[in-house]
Amino acid sequence: LNPENDNLSTEDLDVEKKLRPLSFEDFTGQDQAIDNLKIFVEAANQRDEALDHTLFHGPPGLGKTTLAHILANELQVGIKVTSGPVLDKPGDLAGLLTNLDERDVLFIDEIHRLSPIVEEYLYSAMEDYKIDIMIESGPNARTVQINLEPFTLIGATTRSGLLTAPMRARFGISSRLHYYKTELLTTIIQRSAFILKVPISMEAAIEIAGRSRGTPRIANALLRRVRDFAQIKGDGSITIEIAKYALKALNVDAHGLDEMDNKILATIIDKFKGGPVGISTIATAVSENTETIEEVYEPFLIQQGFIMRTPRGREVTELAYKHLGRTKEKNQGE
Ligand code: ATP
Repeated sequence: LNPENDNLSTEDLDVEKKLRPLSFEDFTGQDQAIDNLKIFVEAANQRDEALDHTLFHGPPGLGKTTLAHILANELQVGIKVTSGPVLDKPGDLAGLLTNLDERDVLFIDEIHRLSPIVEEYLYSAMEDYKIDIMIESGPNARTVQINLEPFTLIGATTRSGLLTAPMRARFGISSRLHYYKTELLTTIIQRSAFILKVPISMEAAIEIAGRSRGTPRIANALLRRVRDFAQIKGDGSITIEIAKYALKALNVDAHGLDEMDNKILATIIDKFKGGPVGISTIATAVSENTETIEEVYEPFLIQQGFIMRTPRGREVTELAYKHLGRTKEKNQGE
């Protein structure tokens, strides 16, 4: 379901499942969102009603899918999982909806990628728990209205701005997820190491956390790879030496920037004299689509202080020059 999971082996996917927090208790960070969700869940549980439709938005790998499962667990209901690009016919959606029990959760990942027909079909399901389905075909074709059990739709998207306005309006709860601070990622890594039964020093956990791009999914992925180094090159436990050795061998950047992050910074410096330059120009220069740059790369680069948004476009900061080992004067040739 998740494009970023595609390159994971089956073993890695199994491990990922094992590491997924199952309750609010297990979930680290996103305090404000979690505190509110706890209230909404408790209130819905007390009234024995379905939780309001809930939208999670934020960059990939911050826990949207995890939270959808946690909500279902905390509501003590079932969950069905699908994604925008997969649901291409109203009939597929009808099949899912009519199979939901009372208060169940339907999770739609990448909800901004639903086709307009399916999206429209979803509106009445969300609003009145009713859908029209077509029975028979040809001259006998007619539609009948079916009542659905009250359910909760949980949608996930990398940017709420990509949703249509009518869709956004149908979510009673909307929650934005933020990048994680190093301290929180350290806690997540320690928890994951405990589950994987691999000893890790505090220093090593902090080192991995600091290079995880503010993202739990990346933190867990790095932990798995560093664990391999500890097993083969050490005695199985992750020390700071092993962590540093492995991260170097894996080519992981000191700030956790990935190849595209660095390419974007280098491009703005080398081709556009450090900016300001428009986002679509940057996208073309690095051969990536504008949407992905805006959703996945830019938010982190801005949050870490490598890029600034100005009225005339994006500009790199002093920190970006320093990070890439360039000097401003030389590049600007002024
Ligand atoms: P996408 O939208 O791209 O699917 P996502 O935001 O749904 O990404 P998840 O799949 O929920 O991300 O999370 C990725 C991995 O990170 C999960 O395997 C989970 O174990 C871990 N993870 C996410 N958030 C947390 C957290 N707060 N505490 C511990 N682990 C977390």
